[in-house]
Amino acid sequence: MKKNIHTTISGSLPKPSWLAETGKLWGQWKLSGTELDQAKADAMKIVVSDQINAGISIITDGEQTRQHFVTTFIENLSGVDFKRKKTVRIRDRYDAAVPMVVDKINRKKSVFVKDVRLLRSLTSKPIKFTLPGPMTMIDTLYDDYYKSREKLAWRFAEVLNEEVKELVKAGVDIIQFDEPAFNVFFDEVHDWGVQTLERAIKNVRCTTAVHICYGYGIEANIKWKNSLGKEWRQYEKVFPLLSKSKIDQVSLECINSRVPMELISLLQKKDIMVGAIDVATNKIETPRQVANILKQALKYTSIKHLIGCTNCGMVTMPREIANAKLKALADGAALLSREL
Ligand code: ZN
Repeated sequence: MKKNIHTTISGSLPKPSWLAETGKLWGQWKLSGTELDQAKADAMKIVVSDQINAGISIITDGEQTRQHFVTTFIENLSGVDFKRKKTVRIRDRYDAAVPMVVDKINRKKSVFVKDVRLLRSLTSKPIKFTLPGPMTMIDTLYDDYYKSREKLAWRFAEVLNEEVKELVKAGVDIIQFDEPAFNVFFDEVHDWGVQTLERAIKNVRCTTAVHICYGYGIEANIKWKNSLGKEWRQYEKVFPLLSKSKIDQVSLECINSRVPMELISLLQKKDIMVGAIDVATNKIETPRQVANILKQALKYTSIKHLIGCTNCGMVTMPREIANAKLKALADGAALLSREL
C-alpha cells in the first residue's frame, strides 16, 4: 500500500517585515495595540497558506504571534519580573540578560488559546502547536525564588499542563515541546528532565512531540557545533530515556549535521521527525536531497513512523528562502513516497 510521507516544520517561520524586525531571534514588533493583534493574525494566515501551497501536511502557526519561543510564554505568567534582568549563560554557550523569578509561578489565563483557535479555523489539516519545554524555560531565567532548577522545572511542567489541556480543547492535534537544553544537560535530563516533560502532558489527549536540536544558525551555535567533534552522539544519551517515555514523536537534526543516523534506532515505536532542511544556510535543498535523507532514515525506522521536518526554526531566514525550503521539503517527501 502506498503511503504519503507526512511533512511539518519544527516551529518558527520568518515574520513579514511589516510585523516585526526581520532576520533576528528577538525582532521588535513594528506595531502596537489592536493594530499589532490584527497584523499577527494576518501574518498567521499568510504562513498557513504558504505551508499549504508548498504541500506541507501538518500545519503550524509559524510562531507569528510570539517574539521568541521561550520568553513569550513566560511573559504571560506571574512570578517573573521582566524589569529586573540578570546576565546568565544560556545552554552553557552564550550570555544573555534574562528576567528574574521572584515569586511562585502561576498562569493567570490561557496564553495561546486564541492563536490555536485562529489556526484551527484556517485549515482542516492536522495542526501542531509548539511550546517551550520545562528545562529550556528554566535555562532562560535567573531564579531568585525556587533556588532549584529541578523545582522550577516541575512548576513550569504543571503550568504547561494547564495550558496544553486548553489548547487541545481548542482543537490542536499535536503539541510539541522544544527542548534544545536536552542536548546539553544530560544528568538533569536523566534525573528529572524527561519526567517533567511527562508531567506537562499528564492526562492530555493529543499526539505529543519533543524537538531537540543543535540550535538556530546563529554564530554561538555554529561555534559550539564546530567544537563537538566528528560525530555528534548527544542524542545517544537522551533517546533511550525518551523511548521509554509517553512522548509520541521526536524531532532531530539530520541534514548537514554530524549526527549518526543509526541513533534513530534507539527510538523504536516513536514517530521520527527527520530534519531534512538545514536552517543554517540559505542554500535551498533539492527535493532529491530531501528524499535521500528521508530514505537513509528509513534504514532505522518504518515509513509509518517517518515525518519529514526541518532541523530547527526558520525565524531568522529571508521569507522567500523559507518558502522555497518548505516546497523542497514537501516535494522531497512526495518524491520518496512515489518511489517506495
Ligand atoms: Zn530547534
